[in-house]
Amino acid sequence: MPVKPLSGVLDIAPYVPGAAGAPGAQKVYKLSANESALGASPKAGAAYRGLAMDGLHLYPDGSANALREAIGAAHQLDPARIFCGAGSDEILQLLMHTYVGRGDNIVQTRHGFLMYSIFATGAGAEVRYAPEKELTADVDALLEAVNEKTKAVFLANPNNPTGTYIPYQELERLRQGLRDDILLVIDAAYAEYIEQEDYGDPARLVHDSDNTIMTRTFSKAYGLGALRLGWAYGPADMIEVLNRVRTPFNVNAAALAAGVAALEDQTFIWKNRAFTNAERARVSEAITGLSNAFDAGLKITPSIGNFLLVHFPDVPGKNADTIYKALAEGGVLVRPVGAYQLPHALRITIGDVQANNRLLDLLKACIAA
Ligand code: PMP
Repeated sequence: MPVKPLSGVLDIAPYVPGAAGAPGAQKVYKLSANESALGASPKAGAAYRGLAMDGLHLYPDGSANALREAIGAAHQLDPARIFCGAGSDEILQLLMHTYVGRGDNIVQTRHGFLMYSIFATGAGAEVRYAPEKELTADVDALLEAVNEKTKAVFLANPNNPTGTYIPYQELERLRQGLRDDILLVIDAAYAEYIEQEDYGDPARLVHDSDNTIMTRTFSKAYGLGALRLGWAYGPADMIEVLNRVRTPFNVNAAALAAGVAALEDQTFIWKNRAFTNAERARVSEAITGLSNAFDAGLKITPSIGNFLLVHFPDVPGKNADTIYKALAEGGVLVRPVGAYQLPHALRITIGDVQANNRLLDLLKACIAA
């Protein structure tokens, strides 16, 4: 008889990553995983190659000292309060399994990032979903969803897949409304793209309150998704706890080396942000223009991330499902978001100019047909 996993584990619907292949298409444009439009800094690539040439036999620095110093310097944060992980996913999982257990619950937004519910279910906890307002986190609803069994609130700001955010003042109001013993996780995976002043700096909230932690990633604007690298900034005691539960060498040496080099090349990040945000505006206007010209009824949720959530009418031949297939046949892979309770929408990552133009051409062909 096979051994049984803990209760809750078999309730997990596995995460489905963005599609990577389009059979039959001559060239594939992967706009399905919110990856960097401009790739990674060449300096990060050089550091990665340097390690591959000489050093594969050595264990990495398990404390990620150089990387934590570099993050601290780039963000004016105390390296002692920084924790590095194999992607921010690993940190979110560690937080869940360390602070949330059977009989507890977590609170997240209705269309919030899927990994929170996956990790919570795996930990045997209940997930309570707070309704959103116009696909945006609603602080009052989040606070209302909290009960005596709530251990943590997970909020992606901005959120994936909606791209929407709440301003710093609202984030502050959320923290103030939560009991002191509730962990607030602010997942700022897309922070490098943000230009909105009212977004503020989530690290300040970490600084000003206990039991608040911010997670960040090198997978988006830094373009290092392949290496799996993320970090968190939190209260010293929480960082100390994470260091107890992690595996001894949780971040690999290639990720450590490339991460330090990438942080030193902030010019690349500025370029990537400016390019991606300008392209996001261009693609968004073009889709709206197409929809208006053909009276197609498409709607775009305003996004501050490197992606757009596009809503399609629930009409046979013109719905999200049909458009997804037509785009894939033409080589453009986007992300269906039915698992996020958004069956009529597609999440489209902003790519390079060629990818974005291919997307727009294919969309036009679908809509005009
Ligand atoms: N949080 C959010 C909101 C994300 O969109 C992602 C990427 N899908 C992650 C966390 C995880 O990123 P990574 O593990 O690559 O750091």
